[in-house]
Amino acid sequence: MGEESLKQLQGQVRGEVILPADRTYDEARRVYNAMIDKRPAAVVRCAGVADVIAAVKAAGAAGLSVAVRGGGHSVPGFGTADGAVVVDMGRMRGIRVDPAAKLVRAEGGCTWGDFNHATHAFGLATTGGIISTTGIAGLTLGGGIGYLTRGHGLSLDNLRSADVVLADGSFVTASEKDHADLFWALRGGGGNFGVVTSFQYRLHPVDTIVGGPMFFEVDDAPDVMRAYDRYITDAPRQLGAFFAWQIAPPLPFIPEDRHGDTFCVLVACWAGPAAEAKKAIAPLRDAAPVVAEAVGPMPYPALNAAFDALVPPGLQHYWKAVFAKDLNDKAIEAHLKHGPKVPAVNSTMHIYPINGAVHDVPADSTAFGNRGAKYAAVIAGMWPDPAQNPANIKWVKDYYAALAPHAEKGGYVNFAAADDQNRVGASYGKSYDRLRTIKGKYDPGNVFRHNQNITPAS
Ligand SMILES: Cc1cc2nc3c(=O)[nH]c(=O)nc-3n(C[C@H](O)[C@H](O)[C@H](O)COP(=O)(O)OP(=O)(O)OC[C@H]3O[C@@H](n4cnc5c(N)ncnc54)[C@H](O)[C@@H]3O)c2cc1C
Repeated sequence: MGEESLKQLQGQVRGEVILPADRTYDEARRVYNAMIDKRPAAVVRCAGVADVIAAVKAAGAAGLSVAVRGGGHSVPGFGTADGAVVVDMGRMRGIRVDPAAKLVRAEGGCTWGDFNHATHAFGLATTGGIISTTGIAGLTLGGGIGYLTRGHGLSLDNLRSADVVLADGSFVTASEKDHADLFWALRGGGGNFGVVTSFQYRLHPVDTIVGGPMFFEVDDAPDVMRAYDRYITDAPRQLGAFFAWQIAPPLPFIPEDRHGDTFCVLVACWAGPAAEAKKAIAPLRDAAPVVAEAVGPMPYPALNAAFDALVPPGLQHYWKAVFAKDLNDKAIEAHLKHGPKVPAVNSTMHIYPINGAVHDVPADSTAFGNRGAKYAAVIAGMWPDPAQNPANIKWVKDYYAALAPHAEKGGYVNFAAADDQNRVGASYGKSYDRLRTIKGKYDPGNVFRHNQNITPAS
């Protein structure tokens, strides 16, 4: 980046411009996945929308790409890039709840922990992710799957409007009424279209929930998977649940002599009336004998932070994603072959339901890739020691190779790997051509290319 534009940028922002020679550069270029080691031209820690505009314009003047960082959780490390200007939103975490209208405006650097904390004070929530440190921005722009999905749709289904700084540094508010094409594309198209400086979401009454994990023996996994699949098809929509493989961490509710053993797990979240919780969760609990469980009433944000300790920043990550229309016998066979070999306590495979309210929304009303799917699954390799990279990556790849023939071609873009760029078209399905056209209109030079990239139509 030219010395001159950098000097100017430093003088134009209220946040910080961090350059390779700066003492804090190594810390500033780091993202959540420790496997990512990129050297951007500058990291701009933006203090407000004006800083974002200045940073995007400076990048444009210097002919550089922009890597946008919200929560920094992108497994492929899209919140940084060699030679790019990183627009780091981490200081922009303002939130204003309007409890009467059941709306919230949240800045683009918020995490779900920030968001849930703010809305829970009013007994309100919207669909977000299951880990509190994930950014609302990346998660919402790609989809947004969590405990409330079956009742309230994807995170992006709850979006009312978004403030966006475009590739040329101009600012627009996108909604159903204004820049409707952009608003359609933002709801699924990831970070391809600009820097979202704030989001406005609809909120729902969600306060204390009844939820937590139930651990079952691996030998019972076929019964557990089938019971989960049967029940989640038509279960009450206030029930969120997912299937997982998990090595037992040393937690007090798990018998001590079973710590370190591998289990299959169902995690439930009942957001309906407390008196109905037992009945609503029973078909999951009765899937097989439960070895250990920690299901109980808790504030909704507590369940959304319950697994944070398993995924601290600084692990190595390699993930693969699949959409599936069902959990057929061949898929179950693949899961049973590879799931029990999960190699690290941090690693897992989750099967999330994306039915219920997600299927109420017409497929072409947002850019989200596959509303016909019943499940979004992720094979999430996460481990602390770089020396174990080959073994852990191999587990993810082998598992994916076995599962892929029995699932859809594409996967949820937020769970996809850096080497999944060739699957972007399949992941977006029928939305892809329209996304390319809108990308061509709003970002013809592909300034925002550090993402599951949608190539601009010319
Ligand atoms: C531990 C963990 C748990 C997860 N759990 C869930 C889950 O429960 N449900 C789920 O759906 N997904 C989940 N994910 C996946 C998650 O949705 C993606 O990793 C998502 O991209 C993270 O968003 P971020 O803002 O934290 O990441 P970042 O790395 O900051 O950004 C991700 C992408 O979004 C773009 N972006 C970020 N901020 C902005 C912005 N303000 N404007 C425009 N573009 C922006 C970036 O350029 C990048 O392409 C999880 C990921 C991890 C690592």
